[in-house]
Amino acid sequence: MPYRAASMSTLSSRRAITLPAMNKQKTEHFRKTLTQQLSALNAEMQTTKKDIAHDEEVYADWTDVASAETDKTMQLKIRDRERMLMRKIEDALKRLDVGTFGLCERCEDPISEQRLKARPVTTLCIDCKAEMEGLEHKRSYPM
Ligand SMILES: [Zn+2]
Repeated sequence: MPYRAASMSTLSSRRAITLPAMNKQKTEHFRKTLTQQLSALNAEMQTTKKDIAHDEEVYADWTDVASAETDKTMQLKIRDRERMLMRKIEDALKRLDVGTFGLCERCEDPISEQRLKARPVTTLCIDCKAEMEGLEHKRSYPM
């Protein structure tokens, strides 16, 4: 099935043929999962934003807040984490578009499907991930 739906851009069709990492059915499955995750996060972000909206100016002056109300810094941390995850999901969706989804960005080997199912935003195969984590531990990476 080298040809994709007509709605696909020429570019993604071409890349999908050169990089047949995953069949269309699986690709669509991951696209759906990621899109759902993204909209769920979006909704959550709106809620969080509402909660801390009145603290926006404090956030700008981050160093002064460090010792201030913990629950608010927690919320900001959560928001940062959500934002980071959203970016990862958006990146994963882009990789789906260009046909590189499911390929390790380090060694370019296919990432196991099991791993992708557990964590679709992953960009590393399990071996590279283990290696990177080893490095992080050596640096005693801060939380
Ligand atoms: Zn790898």
